[in-house]
Amino acid sequence: MTTEETHIELLKAVQALKGHVIHRDSLSVGIDLTRPKKTIFSKVNPVEKTKEELLKTLRHDIGDCQLCPLGKTRKNLVFGVGNPEAQIVFVGEAPGADEDEQGLPFVGRAGQLLTDIIVKGMKMKREDVYICNILKCRPPGNRNPQPDEISQCEPFLKNQLQIISPKIICALGTFAAKTLLKTDIPISVLRGHFHLYEDVKLMPTYHPAYLLRNPSAKKQVWEDVQLIMKEVGL
Ligand code: URA
Repeated sequence: MTTEETHIELLKAVQALKGHVIHRDSLSVGIDLTRPKKTIFSKVNPVEKTKEELLKTLRHDIGDCQLCPLGKTRKNLVFGVGNPEAQIVFVGEAPGADEDEQGLPFVGRAGQLLTDIIVKGMKMKREDVYICNILKCRPPGNRNPQPDEISQCEPFLKNQLQIISPKIICALGTFAAKTLLKTDIPISVLRGHFHLYEDVKLMPTYHPAYLLRNPSAKKQVWEDVQLIMKEVGL
């Protein structure tokens, strides 16, 4: 075939293709290939949900949980609060008296210190991050969480973290760090370095309540927080 003949064949092929596209576009039935893939997918899967919706569904499913004895003594179940799309999730131990009263995590004195770390230290809003606890209900007298309470409650946290899928988890205090990392290594050794929780970077640091009793440890918490900020590009 000469070069001229090749050009003619190519031209014919282009014309045929054009005709096919015009014909397809003129049809009133069939798949509109110009639509983005996501819309086609959501047609097939109409239950595609946002993270906010998934968290709401999870909260609904937890309902008036009575899986452990804390269900009987709590005033309010403290699910968690913040941005479902957060890059950073703070995980504490369990609600205290103020949190139990209000149904919100970290709203007492330790909570004020955590808010200062977020707002004054990280220059973020509390609403930009997500805050929750290992236990959703207050242990009476703020006693330590018991192993059976942790094992009943942990799947809820696991679910929350899977839904939010943050870039960084900050485990506040011994209980959060040990529960999430399944280790007995002391927080003083764990802190200062990232660890992995199901492929997500986790920074253990001292609990704000510990900082209220030991203000000199604020320096180390600030070091840990700066590592988190660097990791998320703040
Ligand atoms: N301490 C926690 O660990 N969580 C709270 O929500 C409040 C205090």
